[in-house]
Amino acid sequence: MLIKSQSAKTKSTRAKSPSTFESLNPATGEVVGVFPLTTKDEVNDAVARAKVAADRWANLSFRARNIVLRDWASILTRDMKEAAELIHRETGKPLSDATLEVALAIEHIGWAGKFAPKVLSRQSRPAGLLMFNMAAQVQRVPFGVVGVIGPWNYPIFTPVGSIAYALAAGNTVVFKPSEYTPAIGSFLEESFKRIAPFRDVLTVVTGDSTTGSALTESAVDKISFTGSTRTAKKVAAACAERMTPVVLECGGKDAVIIDKDADVKKAAEMTLWHAMSNAGQSCIGAERVYVHHQVADQFKSEIVARAKELTPGFGDGAKYGPATMPSQLKVIKAHIDDAASKGATFLLGGRDAIKGGYVEPVILADVPEDSLAVTDETFGPTLVINTVSDMDEAVDLANATSYGLGAAVWSKRNGKRIATLLKCGMVSINSAFSFAAIGAVPFGGVKDSGYGRIHGAEGLLEFTYPRTVVKRRFRIPLEFTTFERSARADRILIRLVRLMHKRRIR
Ligand code: NAD
Repeated sequence: MLIKSQSAKTKSTRAKSPSTFESLNPATGEVVGVFPLTTKDEVNDAVARAKVAADRWANLSFRARNIVLRDWASILTRDMKEAAELIHRETGKPLSDATLEVALAIEHIGWAGKFAPKVLSRQSRPAGLLMFNMAAQVQRVPFGVVGVIGPWNYPIFTPVGSIAYALAAGNTVVFKPSEYTPAIGSFLEESFKRIAPFRDVLTVVTGDSTTGSALTESAVDKISFTGSTRTAKKVAAACAERMTPVVLECGGKDAVIIDKDADVKKAAEMTLWHAMSNAGQSCIGAERVYVHHQVADQFKSEIVARAKELTPGFGDGAKYGPATMPSQLKVIKAHIDDAASKGATFLLGGRDAIKGGYVEPVILADVPEDSLAVTDETFGPTLVINTVSDMDEAVDLANATSYGLGAAVWSKRNGKRIATLLKCGMVSINSAFSFAAIGAVPFGGVKDSGYGRIHGAEGLLEFTYPRTVVKRRFRIPLEFTTFERSARADRILIRLVRLMHKRRIR
C-alpha cells in the first residue's frame, strides 16, 4: 500500500527507516512513494489470508472469474494514463513506452480470462483396449496460492504475465514487486480491489530481497519468479526445501541473425529499437547481431545513422530513459571496457558513453566471442555486431551462450529454417519483440534463461496441476487389477498385448 507520496531531491539511500523504504525516480531523484518493508510474519499472514480466499476463488466458474478479469482490464484501461505516468516516474522510461507496456498487460489479462475455460476444462481421454470399460478424465486443478516475484524493467507487463494467468486458472496471488517499482505494484493491487468480488484474491507485499525470500519460504503453493538468473537459483533452492514448484523467467543474451536476403533497412530500424528501447533493459532485448558479410556494411551504416538520432533523457522527445537501477551502470561500463580492451571497434559511442545516470548508445563491431559484451547480459543501450560468413556460423554463434530466451531472424526466404535451429524459447522473424504481445503464445526460455512458461495456453496450464480421474463404467469378466484375476484373464492379457504391439522387427 502506498503510505506516502512526496517530492524530494536527494537520492542518497533507498532505506528511510527499518520498516519502510523509498521508491525514487531514477531521473530526478524525486521520491515517488514510501512503502512498507513487509516482514516475514506479515508475508506469512498475507499467504494465510490468500489461502482462505483461494477456496472461494477456485469455486467460482470460469465465467465468473472471466467477468472479474474483464472488469480489471476495463479499470486499467480507464486508468491507463495514470498507470503509465507512474511507470514513467518510477523507471524513468518514456511515457509512450510506459503506455505501450500497460496496453500489452491489459491485452494479456483479457486473453487469460477469455481462454481459461477452453484450455482448462475437463478433458476425456481414450482409456485404451486393456481398460476399455473405464472412463478416463483429466482435470486441471489450481495450485492454491501463487507467489509472484517481479522485476523492475517492465513492472506491469511482466508480473501481469503471471498474475493474470494464475488468477484465470483459479489461484489467488501474493505479489512482491521489485523494490525499484513498489508504487506500480501497489497500483495494481488497488485497481484490482475496486472490482474484486471479495478480499485477498490479489495481495501485494512490498519490500526488498528479504521480503522476496520470505515469500519463497512461505506456504505458497507455487512461485512464479521473474528476474536475474543469479536470484532465480536462490529462489529455486529455497523452493526446493518445501518442494514448492517454481516458474523461472530469467535473463537473456538475445541474438539477431541477418541473412543476405534480408530487408536490411527494416532490420536496422527494428533492431535498433529491439536493442535500445527501455535503455536496453529488456530481458528479450537484442544484445548481439550476427550479420551476413554480404550485407554487413549496409546494415552497420543504416543502424549507426539511426542510432545517432537517439537521445536519452526524461523529458518529451527522449527516446529512452536512465538506467533504472544505478548499480547496472558498473556492469555496462565493465562490458564496454572489456570489449574495447579485447580489440573491438566502436561504430558509435565509446568508453565515455555513461553520463550520470544515462548511457548514450554504444554500437561495437568485431567483438571477440569471449568478451563479456557477448557472453553476459549487459542490460544497457549497447549492441554488438559481428560479421559471419554464412547462416550456419550465425546459428552456431547465436547458440553458443548459456542463455536461451529469445531471438530474431531477418531473411526473406530462410527465416523459418533458421528459427528451427535456435536453442531458445521464442523467435520472431522479420520483426522484433512481437511474440511478447501475442496472448496465445507461450513466453519463456531454456538454459540459464529459466524454465516454465507464462502467456498462452501453456501459461494457463503452468498454474494448474493435472488430476487424473478414471471411473469404471461397467463390469467385465476380465478384471486385471484384483487378486481374483483368473488364469484365463492372464491368457487374454497376453493375447491382447501381442495383438497390439508384436511386430516383425527387420
Ligand atoms: P533481480 O533478480 O535482482 O530481482 C528480481 C526480484 O527478486 C525482485 O523483486 C527482488 O526483490 C527479488 N529478490 C531478490 N533476491 C531474492 C531472494 N533471495 N529471494 C526471493 N526474491 C528475491 O532482478 P531485477 O534486477 O529486478 O530484474 C532484471 C532481470 O530480470 C534481468 O536479468 C532480466 O533479464 C530479467 N527479466 C526476465 C524476464 C523474463 O521474462 N525472462 C522479464 C523481465 C526481466
